[in-house]
Amino acid sequence: MKIICIGRNYVEHAKELKNPLPKNPVFFLKPETALLTDNQPFPYPSFSRDVHYETELVLKISQTGKSIPESVACDYFDRIGLGIDFTARDLQQKCKEKGLPWEIAKGFDHSAPVSKVFLAKSSFPDLNNIRFHLLLNGKKVQEGNARDMIFSFETIIAYISKFITLTPGDLIFTGTPAGVGPVKAGDRLEGYIEDKPMISCQVT
Ligand code: MG
Repeated sequence: MKIICIGRNYVEHAKELKNPLPKNPVFFLKPETALLTDNQPFPYPSFSRDVHYETELVLKISQTGKSIPESVACDYFDRIGLGIDFTARDLQQKCKEKGLPWEIAKGFDHSAPVSKVFLAKSSFPDLNNIRFHLLLNGKKVQEGNARDMIFSFETIIAYISKFITLTPGDLIFTGTPAGVGPVKAGDRLEGYIEDKPMISCQVT
């Protein structure tokens, strides 16, 4: 399986990082070794001093597809979960300045915690109106809604699959809303979809 992440998909987040708004979706991959499941703790990596949380809705791909038209793109995922796209912001900033790829800042081990449970797509009355939020040590730090995405789930799937064949079990992180910030050892992150607790992650 692969983990594909969309960057800059919420206007307010693009602004907070002083990034221009993209004309097409921007995506990057994390390797399978980035995955962290079952609410396992996140070990703070030794190579960064500025790891940020980014909470995101995550789609689970359910069938193989290549060059998927937007009109049927929703048939290619069946579940929605919540994930944290941990980012070594200090390393990412250096990569961006030099025009280098982001892998060391985004793809490191355990940088992609995902919820234990993924909710059935059919359980959502409106896929374009899904609220989610993140608590840091009990305090709300991020709040988002799928309706504020620059690129919809359908557009994202159609765009990615032009370049990369999607296969069952692949995960797509759909971008983070504003409010990203640093974590430190001892912090606890708790993510919710609507009011359902989805993911809990202790930083160690
Ligand atoms: Mg992200």
